[in-house]
Amino acid sequence: MDNNFVSINEIEKQSKFTSQIRALIQGKGYRAFVITLGCQQNEADSEKIASMLKKMGYEITLDEREAHILIVNTCAIREHAEKRALSIIGRFKHYKAKNPDIIIGVCGCMSAQEHRINQLKHSYHYVDFTLGTGALHRLPELIFNSMNGAKRHFDIDEIKPKIAEGIEPLRQSDYKAWVSIMYGCDNFCTYCIVPYVRGRERSRKMEDILSEIKDLAGRGYKDITLLGQNVNSYGKDLKGTPTIADLLDEIAKIDGDFMIHLMTSHPKDASKQMIRALKENPHCANHFHLPLQSGSDEVLNRMNRRYTTERYLEIINGLRENSDDITLTTDIIVGFPGESEKDFEKTLDIIKKVRYDSIFTFIFSPRKGTPAYQMEDQIPEEIKHQRYERLCEVQNEISKEINEGYIGRTIRVLVDGKSKNNENVYTSRTEGNKIVHFECDKDYTGKFINVKITRTDTFALYGEII
Ligand code: SF4
Repeated sequence: MDNNFVSINEIEKQSKFTSQIRALIQGKGYRAFVITLGCQQNEADSEKIASMLKKMGYEITLDEREAHILIVNTCAIREHAEKRALSIIGRFKHYKAKNPDIIIGVCGCMSAQEHRINQLKHSYHYVDFTLGTGALHRLPELIFNSMNGAKRHFDIDEIKPKIAEGIEPLRQSDYKAWVSIMYGCDNFCTYCIVPYVRGRERSRKMEDILSEIKDLAGRGYKDITLLGQNVNSYGKDLKGTPTIADLLDEIAKIDGDFMIHLMTSHPKDASKQMIRALKENPHCANHFHLPLQSGSDEVLNRMNRRYTTERYLEIINGLRENSDDITLTTDIIVGFPGESEKDFEKTLDIIKKVRYDSIFTFIFSPRKGTPAYQMEDQIPEEIKHQRYERLCEVQNEISKEINEGYIGRTIRVLVDGKSKNNENVYTSRTEGNKIVHFECDKDYTGKFINVKITRTDTFALYGEII
C-alpha cells in the first residue's frame, strides 16, 4: 500500500532542487505562467504546481508574454480538449524562439498518454518536458535539469502515478478549497479515458486529509470540496480500509463554520453508511451530485456503470429521507452508442421522477482509446442534438418550478463577489450550488449571509439581504 506514496527521500531530493533553483534565479524577477484546462482535479493540481514554482522563487503571472517558464496543465477527456492544449502549446513556440532560455512543460492527462508524449517529443521540439499526473512532485528536478542544459524529458513510466504529501497548494480563493481525498479510478466506464490517464485508485491517508481540513477551517475557509474520481470508494486501498463514511464522521468533529461538498460519487459505491454519515455531519452541504448518465438499464450496462436504475432510485430515496429539501444534481450523457428512442425516453422518465434541481448534460463524443469509440450503432449527430434539446427543455421546466418554490424563503448563501454584469449586484451560492443574486452596498465576499428570495427564473434566484 505504501508503494502508492512518494518516499520521504524523494520529497527531500525535490526540496534540494527547489533550493538550488531559488539560488539560481534570486533577484532576477523570473515569472511563471500556468494554464489549466479541464476539471476540478486539474485546478487542484495547478494550485500545487503554482505553489512549487513560488517556492522555487518564481513570481506567478497571468500574462504568458512575460513568463520565464510556461506550464500547460492539460485535459484529455475529449479530443477537443487535447486539440485546445496543442494549440496553446503551439502558441508558446514563438516565445521560445524569442528567448531560448524559456522553459516549457506539459503536464496533466494528455501527457499521461504514450502517443501524446511521443508527439510532443518529436513534433514540438521546443517543449522541454512532460510530466504525468502522478509525478507532479518531480517538477523542481525537471526545471533544474532544463535550466542546466539536460536532455529533454519524456518519460512513459510516469504513467504509474503516486501520491505526494506535503505540497501545500497556492489556493486561488481564501474561502473555497479543493481537498483531494483520492486519485485515479478503477471503474473503466466504457466512454471514459480517466482510468487510462490517471491510473488506479489511490487514497490519501485519513490523517493527512483531516489535518488539511483542520488547517483550512482554522483559516476561515467556508466551502471545502472533497475531490476524487469516485469519492464513494475512498479508502479501499488503505490499511484498515476506512470508508468515506468514516472520513465524514471524523470531519464532523472538526470545529468551524464551513460546508463540505463531495465531487464526484459513483452510484454503485453509494452505501447506506455514507448516506447516514452525510445526514449526521453538520458540515455536509444539503446537496448531492449523483451521476445517472442514462435512465436505461441496457445503456448503463453498455456504459459498464454497474448499477441499475432501480438501485439508483433507492439511493435517491435514501438521500431524500435524510432531507426532503436536499438539492440533487446529476450528469447525463445523451446519444451513447445504441441509445434507442425508448432508452432516451427512459432517461426523460427518471428526470421527471427525481426532479433534479439541475443537470449537466453531455452529448456523447467518442473518445479514442476507450471501448465506446469502437462500438457499433453510433448515434447520428442530428439525433444527439435533438435529444439534448428535448432533455434541456424538460429539465429547464423542472428547474424553474423548483426555483419558484424558494420565493419568500430566507436562505443562507456564501457570497462569491460582484456580478460581472451589474456593479451593484452580488452573486452568491446556496449550499446546493444555486446561484443567488442580490443588491448590497457592502462587500460580503467569502462570508455567509442570509438572503430572502423575492423572485426566480430557471437558472438563478434573486433576493434581498436580511
Ligand atoms: S467512474 Fe467512470 S466516468 Fe468516472 S472517472 Fe471513473 S471511469 Fe470515468
